This record gives sequence, C-alpha cells and structure tokens, in this order.
Amino acid sequence: MTDLYYDDDADLSVLSGKKVAVIGYGSQGHAHALSLRDSGVDVVVGLKAESSSKAKAEEQGLTVKTVAEAAAEADVIMILVPDQHQAAVYSAEIAPHLVPGNVLLFSHGFNIRFGYIEAPTEVGVAMVAPKGPGHVVRREYEAGRGVPALIAVEQDPSGEAKSIALAYAKGIGGTRAGVIETTFTEETETDLFGEQAVLCGGASQLVQYGFETLTEAGYKPEIAYFEVLHELKLIVDLMVEGGLTKQRWSISDTAEFGDYVSGPRVISPEVKENMKAVLADIQSGAFAKRFMDDQRVGGKEFNELRKKNESHPIESTGRELRKLFSWIPQDDDYTEGTTAR
Ligand code: NDP
Ligand code: MG
Ligand code: MG
Repeated sequence: MTDLYYDDDADLSVLSGKKVAVIGYGSQGHAHALSLRDSGVDVVVGLKAESSSKAKAEEQGLTVKTVAEAAAEADVIMILVPDQHQAAVYSAEIAPHLVPGNVLLFSHGFNIRFGYIEAPTEVGVAMVAPKGPGHVVRREYEAGRGVPALIAVEQDPSGEAKSIALAYAKGIGGTRAGVIETTFTEETETDLFGEQAVLCGGASQLVQYGFETLTEAGYKPEIAYFEVLHELKLIVDLMVEGGLTKQRWSISDTAEFGDYVSGPRVISPEVKENMKAVLADIQSGAFAKRFMDDQRVGGKEFNELRKKNESHPIESTGRELRKLFSWIPQDDDYTEGTTAR
C-alpha cells in the first residue's frame, strides 16, 4: 500500500514568512486562495488587470494584484489559470520575476509533462492536485473536512519543495482527507486517461448511446433519461462506498445477472484496445498537441464539439425534467456553453 500523508505529516509553519501567490480565481483558484488564507497563510491573488473576478476576490477579503506583481512578491506561486493559457501567462508575467529558491506549484502536470512550460533549474517545481472540483474543495474545507490530493516534486534545488507542497495541501484541507505522492508524468497521464476513457468521455458516450437506443426503439425520452442518466449517480455512489461488489450487492439479482452477461457485450474487448490507443495518444503528446494547437486558433474544434454535444436530445429532455424536480440542486454559477468558475 502506498504511503498516505495526513495533517500530522505536514507542517504549515514551513509557509510562515513566505508569501503564496495564487494565479487565477476560478474553480480551483478561489478554493485555494480562500482556504490558505483561512489557514493563516499570507496569500496574494494574481489576476489580469481587467479580470472579471477581481471584485469577487476583493469582496471575499483577499488582496488582488496583477499576475506580474503577485509573482514578483511571492516565494511560492501556484498557477491556476486554465491549462491552455498557462504557458503564455507564465512566460509573459511569471518567468521574468522568478528568483532562485522560488517554488512553482501546479494542480495538474499538463504543461510541465508536455514541455509547454520549462522552469529554470534554480526554481522548485511541485504539484498539489486536489482530486475534486474546486467548489467541492472549498465546501469540504469549510465543513472541517477536505478533498484528497496528490503531491509531486519535479525539481527541487532548495530541498524544500516536498515540505512546501505538503504544507500547501494542509492549508487547503487535503491532508485531512489523505495525500498521496506521485510524479508529474503519472498524475498527468492517469488524469487525462481517466477523464477521457472512463469518467467524462466514456461515461458521456455510454449515456448518449443508451438514450439513443431506447428512444430510437420508441420508448419515452423522459423514461430513457431516468434509466440511463439519472440513476447513474445512485449506482456510482454505491461504487464509491464499497466498490463494484457493493453496487452488485445492492441491486436486484436480475440486474446483477444482466450486469455480468450484458456488460461485456456492450463494453467488448475491442473497447479496451481503443482505450490503449487513447492512452498511447496521451503518452506520446498527440492529444496535448491537438488540444493546444486548436486552442491557438481560438478553440475552433473545441467549440464545435461543445455545440454539437449540447444539442443532443438527452440535454433538452433533462433540462425540462429537472425544472420539475425541487430535489435536484440548481447551480447558480452554471451557464451552458461556458467553463466552470
Ligand atoms: P478556471 O477555468 O476555473 O480558471 C479561471 C481563472 O483563470 C479565472 O480567474 C480567469 O481570469 C483566469 N485566467 C484565464 N485566462 C487567463 C489569462 N490568460 N491570464 C490570467 N488569468 C487568466 O481553471 P480551473 O480552476 O478549472 O483549472 C486551474 C488548474 O487546476 C488547471 O491546471 C486544471 O487542470 C487544474 N485542476 C482543475 C480542477 C477543477 O476542478 N476545475 C480539478 C483539478 C485540477 P478571470 O477571472 O479574469 O476570468
Ligand atoms: Mg483532469
Ligand atoms: Mg432498473
């Protein structure tokens, strides 16, 4: 079993006398900045001069400066702007202000792993990656709990990078839940694979095909929505509590037998071959290049795909159904066609 780090293994005083700059105030940025501040860490938020989040961060009692100013005065700099913008922000506004002994932090290894950011050798590079969405990271911290996190050290000229990463993880509640050490390569490749093959790509496609199969056979879209999308959460909750076995224990014997005989028919061995091909594209950098090249031309492919998927009939069916249900949480921040903030 791999080592887990908890609160007692991390020393927040490693950060005392140090200034931490959190660059970006989106999903992860707001959670890190607020929770570090509440943990007694000296935090400055770095944003574009014309940032739409500046007022919000200031209202919440944080000091906001430009990215360059924040980077210049900080000892530890956490980069939490979207992955596709990190390299440009880094080279224009962070790199010129780095001095030996500074530590650069990331919550995802993408830019280091694929070489879009190359930090000078006299600067530390480490990762604190909460394994959950930013809004949950903040909510759990406020509730006295935390979201598990990964830490990694890529380069460590001062010998402090790991203790700083652990202290930072403690400051955002990560060590309350458990922290595992990994590498930039392992975190980046497994994170991309998990979201593409199973969590986001695989699950979304499975749900869409299930919905299409039922509605094309003449069943009501509302019923199809419940069977293939809504109930998925209930099943996944059981998996998280007790693995596939608890899920199979809770469902009926009919459902369990159907699971064994039909699961491998739907997700046939060739799907595993497809997964291996997806993993190979991640490992070779081909996926990263496709994403970054498209971002460079304004995200043309990305926006087309987003539009196409948002117009799938399961989305309008779900929108109408969810309006009728008071027990479905409504997320005020959420706007279709945008990225989470
Ligand atoms: P967001 O999309 O929520 O970040 C938005 C923030 O970045 C905003 O404050 C925005 O500014 C700022 N920003 C965007 N472009 C620029 C720019 N060019 N210059 C300066 N600031 C800019 O990012 P996430 O929180 O989703 O992701 C941040 C990092 O965390 C990524 O590395 C991601 O992989 C990682 N991560 C994210 C998770 C998540 O839950 N979302 C989970 C685990 C890791 P403005 O306020 O002005 O719009
Ligand atoms: Mg990810
Ligand atoms: Mg059923």
